[in-house]
Amino acid sequence: MMGNSFPKDNVQNDPLLAVHHLQVHFPIRDGLLRRQVGAMRAVDDVTFAIARGETLALVGESGVGKTLLGRSILQLTQPTGGRVVFAGQDVTRPNPATLRTLRRQVHMLFQDPYRSLNPRMPVGKLVAEPLAVHNMGRAAEREARVAALLQQVGLNPYCAARPPFDFSGLQRQRVNLARALASEPVLLILDEPLTRLDPVLHPQMMALLAALRTEHDLTYLLLAQDLAYVRDFAQQVGVMYAGRVVELGDVAAVWQRPFHPYTQILLSQLPDPELETETKRQRLRLEGKSPDPARLPAGCHFHPRCPYVADECRRVEPEYRNMGTAERPHWVACHFAAVG
Ligand code: SF4
Repeated sequence: MMGNSFPKDNVQNDPLLAVHHLQVHFPIRDGLLRRQVGAMRAVDDVTFAIARGETLALVGESGVGKTLLGRSILQLTQPTGGRVVFAGQDVTRPNPATLRTLRRQVHMLFQDPYRSLNPRMPVGKLVAEPLAVHNMGRAAEREARVAALLQQVGLNPYCAARPPFDFSGLQRQRVNLARALASEPVLLILDEPLTRLDPVLHPQMMALLAALRTEHDLTYLLLAQDLAYVRDFAQQVGVMYAGRVVELGDVAAVWQRPFHPYTQILLSQLPDPELETETKRQRLRLEGKSPDPARLPAGCHFHPRCPYVADECRRVEPEYRNMGTAERPHWVACHFAAVG
């Protein structure tokens, strides 16, 4: 079914997380009076939803706005437009009680396992900290819970007294996970969990995340730089470029038929011998750099790098088209999605 704009709810019934037209814009000021002369559109009109127990992977190069999007869902950065609905409740600009609930039930696993842990605290205290913040359990119960959490992420509970610098990158990421799980969240935002790890450790980390999702009945929003691991790990995939989601759909549908040229390029670069798409056979290359969000190109923001650019692309920003069905939408922001 074709349609020209994102519906209000690109949503399965009763999603755990629904993000509606979310924006994070920063003013650009100039002159003696520091008048606003424009806006840096770091996150722009992003809409998606995640059902309970499912995983959505949002993929795009560094700097496309993924981390900021994660932070704005958690209200660590205030959105400038749009809404975030978590478990049926609007949590945009929340009151203190709503914010406390949100921070208990949603955690963000930050990408740098070396900088996200206080080096002066032993890991047992680091994992226990969220229990204290959310007033969960008595001292003895917290100790037992910390030991259980360390075990669940594959660490020996006897290491609780050791400081983070005694641990490798993968072990620190395990500590971060134990800490994220402490307050019994239902949604984890995984911000490039592999970026700072040795590639040989990536399968191990992904297997751990998959096992924890099942054990703890978790829902994931995975933020990643490329599509590696996405096919086996997520149910939905969104491709982000210059603050916007340019393609969004079921993983199987996007793999089968990627419509946006940027998605086609990302997929063509996957070292996957079984991938059966035309793009794989063509091995597309991505030229140039992603644009500065303060100086986005007019029209389609991808046009300076697009191999199929036409005049219209330089002038008119593409609207979303649904290339799937009403039940299983597949959204694409490209003037020529229907042609290719
Ligand atoms: S709208 Fe034009 S420039 Fe943008 S992705 Fe489509 S073909 Fe390329």
